[in-house]
Amino acid sequence: MNANVLVLNQDYQPLSICSIQRSMKLIFLEKAELLHDDPEKKLRSPREEYSFPSVIRLRRYIRVPYTKIVLSRRNVMRRDNFICQYCGKKSDLTIDHVLPKSRGGRDVWENLTTACEKCNVKKGNRTPREAQMELAAKPYRPIPITFFRDMNGGVQEPWKPYLYMT
Ligand SMILES: [Zn+2]
Repeated sequence: MNANVLVLNQDYQPLSICSIQRSMKLIFLEKAELLHDDPEKKLRSPREEYSFPSVIRLRRYIRVPYTKIVLSRRNVMRRDNFICQYCGKKSDLTIDHVLPKSRGGRDVWENLTTACEKCNVKKGNRTPREAQMELAAKPYRPIPITFFRDMNGGVQEPWKPYLYMT
């Protein structure tokens, strides 16, 4: 019973991670609905069998205070799982400006991506399109939950679409 459940806000944005027990309580109180369960597992009481929650969604929207993640090289790489977004390499990583700095590309989450040295040099002063180098994922501003995937226990398959991992 030490598995975790991903909690989505009413608008399907990832909000937090909670325990199975807590998720069952939220569902029971009709504060949340079950979106995905783990079909391989069941929760059993002496009389009944319940789905094993994996993702739940709150029925009412919760306003969350905006938490800012510091824009840093490390956090850009963390967001990109420490993988070159052009070729998939996991070493010699650098930060690439998607729109090159010399052409007005800014230091913002949406313009920074993880690239290995080789790809960074190869791309040079061009956009991915000009260089015909496709990005694995469009750079985005991460939210705290983006980094939940790094936590112990790992990410369950049904969480991935909500954590921008597919
Ligand atoms: Zn590369």
